Amino acid sequence: MKRSPPPVTATTTAWSSSKPPLLRFLHTCHADFLPEATGAVADYIPELGKADPTHFGISLATLDGHVYEVGDTRVPFTIQSMSKPFVFALALDTLGAERVESVIGVEPSGDPFNSIRLNAENHPFNAMVNAGAIACSGLLHADKGDGAFEFIRQALGRFAGRELDVDEAVYASESATGDRNRAIGYLLRTNSVITENVPAVLDVYFRQCSILVTARDTAVMAATLANRGINPLTEEQVVTPYAIARTLSVMTSSGMYDYAGEWIYRVGIPAKSGVGGGILAALPARLGLGSYSPKLDKHGNSVRGIKVCETLSAHYDLHMLNRSDDARHSIIADYNIGKNPSRRVRRPQEQEILARHFQEVRVIELVGTLSLSNVDYVSRRLAGSPRPEFVIFDLRRVTATTRAGARLVAEAFQELAELGVTVILSGIKRTSREWATISEWTRRLGNIRDFYLLDTAIEWAEDQIVYRYGGSIDFLETTELAEQPLLAGLSEAEIADLTALCTVRTYQQNEKVIAAGGEATSLFFLRSGVVHVTLPDGIRLATLTAGMAFGEMALLEPTRSADVLADMSATAYEVAIRDFERFREQHPRAGERIMRNLAQILADRLIVANAKVDLLTSG
Ligand code: GLU
Repeated sequence: MKRSPPPVTATTTAWSSSKPPLLRFLHTCHADFLPEATGAVADYIPELGKADPTHFGISLATLDGHVYEVGDTRVPFTIQSMSKPFVFALALDTLGAERVESVIGVEPSGDPFNSIRLNAENHPFNAMVNAGAIACSGLLHADKGDGAFEFIRQALGRFAGRELDVDEAVYASESATGDRNRAIGYLLRTNSVITENVPAVLDVYFRQCSILVTARDTAVMAATLANRGINPLTEEQVVTPYAIARTLSVMTSSGMYDYAGEWIYRVGIPAKSGVGGGILAALPARLGLGSYSPKLDKHGNSVRGIKVCETLSAHYDLHMLNRSDDARHSIIADYNIGKNPSRRVRRPQEQEILARHFQEVRVIELVGTLSLSNVDYVSRRLAGSPRPEFVIFDLRRVTATTRAGARLVAEAFQELAELGVTVILSGIKRTSREWATISEWTRRLGNIRDFYLLDTAIEWAEDQIVYRYGGSIDFLETTELAEQPLLAGLSEAEIADLTALCTVRTYQQNEKVIAAGGEATSLFFLRSGVVHVTLPDGIRLATLTAGMAFGEMALLEPTRSADVLADMSATAYEVAIRDFERFREQHPRAGERIMRNLAQILADRLIVANAKVDLLTSG
């Protein structure tokens, strides 16, 4: 039964009339190769000879699930030999690699696809030639019996992301004329590669070759191969990464008939073609390409399809063996808390301890992929400098983790733990894929600390340094006005007068003390507890403990620019700006002192803020 092609959806219509450059490139390819008239439509399967030789479609699927289409990308044609890699991957997963590899080789044969020659062990050379593909179908038939073909059809549909049909006419035509494949089938049985009913196995094989696909389908199928077995449209893991890597290997050495060596030399992208006129190419971690044009060259490869692949590879330099990367770009910032402390405003005693031990907390902000070479580079950079007590790895800009990278991360963490260095992670959600990959390897290391916000991680490490070097952080302690840095240098009498103007306020945990946008009519001195200052967009500017002033910008600005919330129950002295101004008039010396203190506090904050900006811009 022939079903109409899938409905056309606006996959390439965008907000702007201008086309993405990759789509433009595909259009140019299509226009350039459309006049190409060489080659001949395959007709050894009579029904294939009916294909329209003018049809030409190019489709490219990205791994984030976008599909570009140019030309006849919705014209159905039979998948033929392009079914072979998928059925091989399916067999590896269904029957186990050992079973499959025990009867099908992985060496290129150098022979045409329909060669009746077996290797020295009387096994098929590989799963991309007919003998190997028929053997694969045989293995699945032995396992699934009459359900084998349906099992294959459904699996191929999962690669394509939609249900696929069979072209009954092509199936009947090949079944009526496929004596060469029958001969191969019996040869396989006499060598015990197939152990059962040869006609039933060939029926599975002929049917699988007659599955109808479009150029768009094959692009998505190729993208699934390029994406470690996850269909980028449906996000389904169709087969295991193990099966994918092995399948791509055989495609690399044997995917393009007896043109395979030349192909990988020139184009450098694992691919498979079929006598129906399709070519699919899967560039791992990048893209899947599907093309359809029925005229074939003498090797049995689509003439236009070859040209498209060659041009795409040359134009964008996609040869898979011509890659490079620079691990040194994986660190975007590397500093210690001397240059970039947390936003927690510290009391003098804490400040002193941190100033003495600033080298003990090292922060390394990473970007991009945690790969083998990137993690290796980071670990060497750490080893080449004085050993800190705490290392924070900030992963918020890490976009991927390879398995090798995760394994090396685990080994590096293990070594740091043995050296007594505490590792802290920030910027990574426990629900993320990166967390899953990293924790798969680091689980046995026990408790690696992680904080979502880098600032919280730095603050925590600072606290540990304060505790370790004799300081204590007592959130319940009460601080009187005389200890406030903003009021440093005031006489006892001046402090007493100011105290008289203050009201003591009490706040519960999470209570809002100041709301952004409100009128700034008073200023506060935190007496006990902890509060934090947050911008309306949620960015935490500072954490304050007893002894710190807040809302002091009211001395300069009429409106509050940030929220202040209590982190735990807190008490504060509040003094109205108008009373404070009166106090300054009555005590001019104290007033000047306070404004100088304020200038100093703001200058200190600016220095820290500038250092933070510097760290990122200088990388
Ligand atoms: N069904 C075809 C055959 O076995 C597939 C050939 C191919 O596409 O290479 O002859």
